[in-house]
Amino acid sequence: PTMSHAAGPAEAVVDLAAYRANLAVLRAAAPTALQMAVVKADAYGHGAVETARAARQAGAEWLGVATVEEASTLRRGGDRGPVLAWLSPAGADLAPAIDAGVDVAAGSVAQLEAVVAAGATNRPRVHLKVDTGMARGGVRGAELSALFEAARDARHAGRIEIVGIFSHLACADEPSSPVNAAQEHAFGEAVAELASYGVEPEVRHLANSAATLTRPSVHHDLVRVGIASYGLSPGPQLGTPSDLGLTPVMSLTTALSLVRRVPPGTGVSYGHTYVTKRETTLGLVPVGYGDGILRAASNHAEAWVNGSLVPIAGRVCMDQIVLDLGDVVAERGDEVVLFGSGSRGEPIAEDWAQAAATIGYEVVTRLGGRIVRTFV
Ligand code: PLP
Repeated sequence: PTMSHAAGPAEAVVDLAAYRANLAVLRAAAPTALQMAVVKADAYGHGAVETARAARQAGAEWLGVATVEEASTLRRGGDRGPVLAWLSPAGADLAPAIDAGVDVAAGSVAQLEAVVAAGATNRPRVHLKVDTGMARGGVRGAELSALFEAARDARHAGRIEIVGIFSHLACADEPSSPVNAAQEHAFGEAVAELASYGVEPEVRHLANSAATLTRPSVHHDLVRVGIASYGLSPGPQLGTPSDLGLTPVMSLTTALSLVRRVPPGTGVSYGHTYVTKRETTLGLVPVGYGDGILRAASNHAEAWVNGSLVPIAGRVCMDQIVLDLGDVVAERGDEVVLFGSGSRGEPIAEDWAQAAATIGYEVVTRLGGRIVRTFV
């Protein structure tokens, strides 16, 4: 089959029906909790506005993003439902998002002060962020009481609403790690301490995808699901997507731009890290690390051409990759699937992650540049 790529060298085909089905699987895993579809970083590279719309169709009560700019993008895309933007970088202009009805987070007294001082017309809706063991954002120890007191006072003064309390798990993809139980316990204590200040927020939330799938005791009022909604496994210990009943949402396809026969001993791509062992067919693919393809996958990942898995020959370049097609019959214009759902035998994003010694999250989130997204 000859593919045409009118608008770019490669296409990321986003299967929104698969995305909605994955959200249903996650809903079944946490039936008593509200569902927050995490669509930060352009929905892990899948396209935030379209993905968010599909999440609402699937019944997601909440959307989660990192930055207030991402939340504003969702509002411009027409979303009117509950959205939380949990990052508050120094200097961020929070007012437009607050006035668009976006919830924000406070993980320190300084961040709470920034929310109050943002100058929004709306009363800010705040989720208090607790550090239960990730040591990234959020308060712990004495800072915890200071934030809770400041939040209670700001609420009494009518300056904020306290909507949520939340934290994030560091080792949820290792279900037997004792860190999970320790964080669960610390979160319970923080919720109890907040209650002792007379504050009982509407939503307590701790679980990411891995905890949604493996740890019902941390589902609380709401689960924040990212990677599994995109049909990727949170980590090898949880199994493959198909073990989890999930379908990878994104397929990355392109077309061969050149096909030619070369003799044995042909050094391929920069540094000649690949040398053909016998006469073979090389196929050229017009994407590279400039499009977010991981250079570390050089010589390790495989693509799928005309029903066969074929290896990357040599280094991934900025704009191109060479495949060793061996004796696979192929011609210019034939479809190349770099990764997909796996249903036809093609690699999945996690195969690329393994080849590049990284995680599936990075494989999909990095795609950008010249790659065109299509929604089906
Ligand atoms: N919650 C927070 C605070 C996050 O930063 C993320 C993403 O890393 C998620 C939830 C979703 O995590 P996952 O993609 O593992 O489901």
